Amino acid sequence: MRKIVLATKNTGKIAEFERLLSQFTPDIKVLGLSDFPDMPEVVEIGKTLNENARLKAKAICEFTKLPALADDSGLFIDALGGQPGVYSARWAGYEGVDSKMRDLANINKALEELKDVPKGSRGAQFRSVVAFCRQNLDSSFLEKEELGVLSGQILTQPIGSAGFGYDPIFSPDQFDQSLAQLPPRVKDEVSHRGIALRAIAPFLRDHL
Ligand code: IMP
Repeated sequence: MRKIVLATKNTGKIAEFERLLSQFTPDIKVLGLSDFPDMPEVVEIGKTLNENARLKAKAICEFTKLPALADDSGLFIDALGGQPGVYSARWAGYEGVDSKMRDLANINKALEELKDVPKGSRGAQFRSVVAFCRQNLDSSFLEKEELGVLSGQILTQPIGSAGFGYDPIFSPDQFDQSLAQLPPRVKDEVSHRGIALRAIAPFLRDHL
């Protein structure tokens, strides 16, 4: 059984990646950072999604000596010049540990910033970069990244209760609902993360 370490402790995310990767590589076991409790936290100091995803994948690969996969995602709003982008997670400045409160603060900030922006000018994209890193026998690193983009519109009010983050105010172009109204399986199919992961999966099959 081949192993890969994913840059997350989130068991839901690990299950999602394992589900998708097993379609391409049946004998794959996806480990998470909880399997490596001594691994120091990787600080996301990059200015782009690519930099952060690469940084995380390489740090895990160096520490665990196993192939690693990391993703970094964000919401890019056209009317705000691409904000919050790489700073999406902590955009509103909420410092607590309650992720629901953090999501709510971020959603409220987005709605406030866009309050005078009419329908038709509220375009946005979710972007996700998935980065792979593996150490070669000569100690050099094999690295690869793929980008997934989901285009849509920012709604004028939150709707739906599934998902996380900005899902309740984001409606993908091909749907009338918000991402938070879509069943998780449908979101997996269309999401920026799903697109990036499906793009990198054949490379993983050949290089794990
Ligand atoms: P991460 O890099 O996947 O942790 O994403 C960073 C931040 O972007 C998250 O904390 C969310 O605020 C936002 N984000 C990323 N992907 C999604 C998504 O699929 N739905 C809603 N928000 C997302």
